[in-house]
Amino acid sequence: MLSMRLLITGGAGFIGSHLCDLFLHQGHEVICMDNLLTGRKANVSKHFGNPRFTFVCYDVTHYIHVDGPLDYILHFASPASPADFERLAIRILKVGALGTHKALGLARAKGARFLLASTSEVYGDPLSHPQREDYRGNVNPIGVRGVYDEAKRFAEAMTMAYHRAHGVDTRIVRIFNTYGERMRADDGRAIPNFITQALAGRPLIVYGDGRQTRSICYIGDMIQGIARLMEAPINTPVNLGNPHELSMLELARTIVALSRSSSRIVFGELPQDDPKVRLPDITKARQLLQWEPVVGAETGLQRTIDWFRRTGIA
Ligand code: UDP
Repeated sequence: MLSMRLLITGGAGFIGSHLCDLFLHQGHEVICMDNLLTGRKANVSKHFGNPRFTFVCYDVTHYIHVDGPLDYILHFASPASPADFERLAIRILKVGALGTHKALGLARAKGARFLLASTSEVYGDPLSHPQREDYRGNVNPIGVRGVYDEAKRFAEAMTMAYHRAHGVDTRIVRIFNTYGERMRADDGRAIPNFITQALAGRPLIVYGDGRQTRSICYIGDMIQGIARLMEAPINTPVNLGNPHELSMLELARTIVALSRSSSRIVFGELPQDDPKVRLPDITKARQLLQWEPVVGAETGLQRTIDWFRRTGIA
């Protein structure tokens, strides 16, 4: 592959920083743009001093200027944890709407390909199970989660509009729950919460009755899927996630066991509009990208627990 010059918005975030690693490893040049609202410099600091890496602290809801050519823009900027949906409601709406518009405008000006990080949240609390890409979702536009769901739905609409109206070569990935090294301990999502609670010997708080399901995809698998989608000529959305469904109670029990913790499991209040089920149908990714996850939950969770332990964050 020829050497490319890429812009990754949200490049200091959880998924964005793993993308920086991959492309630098492949010999490409990476511009990582992040305003560090939920991203962290520590996620990319090992690349400081690499002449093929540039970090720009910037809020992409404003006009984005980049010197020189760009081959690819990966738009990953956005807070993404339900714990942030109330705290950062307007920032989330702005980065999904204004930020996506700016990033698409830059892609158009540079003749760059564009990939939007979308989400399984576009399906809301789904009435169709598992979720296929042609399912249109069940979103409460005025609920607390709606800020993220609608921002990403708007971002998808804007991406398709730039593709149709301006011929920008676009990709949309709908990312289902993903976990692994570099998640923030205080991110508020189930996996970092459960791990930090288990490692500290505190009770794990499962919201609701714990029967709600998710499917969890290890970061390494997700990064491989995104890289394949970039190379594939598919402009319509593609689900990426792990097709193994588990309940949140099972997840909590597994984390207690893997971390050899003596923590108890207790139950807390279920957040508003919390999806009851979530499971990707990844037929499209399997067929068109020849991709499927290869890291099982126990392996991926063990790596993640070990990482939290090593970094002393927990
Ligand atoms: N959850 C939980 N305890 C926590 C955090 C989350 O039981 O400390 C539940 C949450 O209510 C949801 C599921 O775990 O049903 C996954 O939540 P997460 O925040 O990881 O992301 P979501 O899949 O809802 O976007």
